[in-house]
Order: sequence, then structure tokens, then C-alpha cells
Amino acid sequence: MHDHTSFQVAQLPALQDNYIYLILPRHSTSCLVVDPAETVPVIDACQQLERQPDYILNTHHHWDHTGANLELKRMFGCKIIGSAEDKERIPGLDLTVCEQPSTSLGGLRVRVIETPGHTRGHIVYLIEDALFCGDTLFGAGCGRLFEGTAEQMWSSLKRLARLPEPTRVYCAHEYTLANLAFASRVDADNPALSMRLKQARACREKASPTIPSTIGLELQTNPFLRVLNDDFRRHYAMRHGIEQDEISVFAHLRRKKDRL
Ligand code: ZN
Ligand code: FE
Repeated sequence: MHDHTSFQVAQLPALQDNYIYLILPRHSTSCLVVDPAETVPVIDACQQLERQPDYILNTHHHWDHTGANLELKRMFGCKIIGSAEDKERIPGLDLTVCEQPSTSLGGLRVRVIETPGHTRGHIVYLIEDALFCGDTLFGAGCGRLFEGTAEQMWSSLKRLARLPEPTRVYCAHEYTLANLAFASRVDADNPALSMRLKQARACREKASPTIPSTIGLELQTNPFLRVLNDDFRRHYAMRHGIEQDEISVFAHLRRKKDRL
């Protein structure tokens, strides 16, 4: 269980490597479910915690984020929130949202940030210092470009990178170890990276999550955010004989990772 000021977060492993999050407002009997990939872990956790899901927050339409939408809605009558872009493709969508600084859901102030790139309708939810970022930003990685351009994904990632460093990053997949292996190949001399790799290995050996991380740690060790570091960007560009601007380097890194 992770603590924030007005809520706690329960982290539920699902499918192969997904995380479903339950947001549990304090002094309440309800909860919000982020990206329910599967029904059973949500039902079990809700029962154990004596909570009733009022809302489902979807970051995007992919089945491993929305698979339990309809069943949970049928069982609990919860309202499903997602991007207006995904009106036609998020199962059971009730309430569409777009970029907004603050909206109230289940008694919590929620900020919605549009982060197109992985899909065109991808959004993330910021509640206090907790960022639920789906498949946009991962531990030491970022989502694949299924529907967006490198430019779009880069500007989405940059917006997340500007959040305060202590912001906790609750992403939807446990990909950290594989991402760190790639990071070590392109950013070998980064001491923060070797330290993170050691910690992540120890976590996975105990089968515990490497997530949440923080924006601060991602800035130091995530190769895609390291593009913001002038030295890293110049060295990488020189080594690969490409332009030194952020988008060229980001796009090259993303393609290189895709080819692994
Ligand atoms: Zn996805
Ligand atoms: Fe996914």
C-alpha cells in the first residue's frame, strides 16, 4: 500500500506484467480503479479492502487496460472515464475527458494531461503527487509509438518530465528490468543507472514491484528522458552520426529500442 495525503494506492499485478491500481480515498468506502486489465484481482482486492469501485479511469483503449471495464461496470455500476478521442473504442465509456487542470472524481482533485504518442487518445491522471501514466512513461522506458509520431510522444514525455521530481510514477507495466538493460547499452557511464539496475534486480528477485518510481529517478536514469541532458544528447548524436536536436535523438532511441 502506498501513502499519499488524501488517499492510498493499492497496486495489483495482473496478466503477465500489468499493474492495476486502486485509489483509496481516506475516510471512504469507495475507490477508483485505474486501467483494469482483469476482473478477478479487482474484485478480490475490493472485497478484502471493503471498498466499492465508483469510477474506472482508463489511460487508453488497449485491451490490457480496459479488459475488465464491462464486467466491473455490470457488477458495481461504476462510471468509466476516458479520453474523448477514445469514445468509440473504450468499452462502456460513460464520461469523456480532455486536458483539464482540475476535475473532481470520488472526492479527489484529478488533473488530466493529454499525452498522445502510444495511442492518439492516451491521457494520464495526476492526483496530488501520484501520476497514473499508463503506457506513456515506464520505469526506465516509454511506450511504443503505435499511433503517434516521435514528435508527439516527445512533447508528451517532456510535459511529464516537468512535473515535480518527487512525483510518484505509477505506470501500467513492470518492464523496468528489460528497459534498464537497454538503458545500460546507450548510457553506460551513468552511475545512477547502475545503482538503479542493482536495486531493480534485487526487487525482481523477491518478486516485488520496481514501480512506483519518481520523476526525479526517471530524469536520472530513463534513457528517453536523458535526452533532456545536453551531454547525453550530444554524445549519443555524435556516436550515431545524427542531428543533435531532442526529437532526432529521441526518435533514434525509440527506433533502436524497437529493433531489440
Ligand atoms: Zn497500450
Ligand atoms: Fe499496455
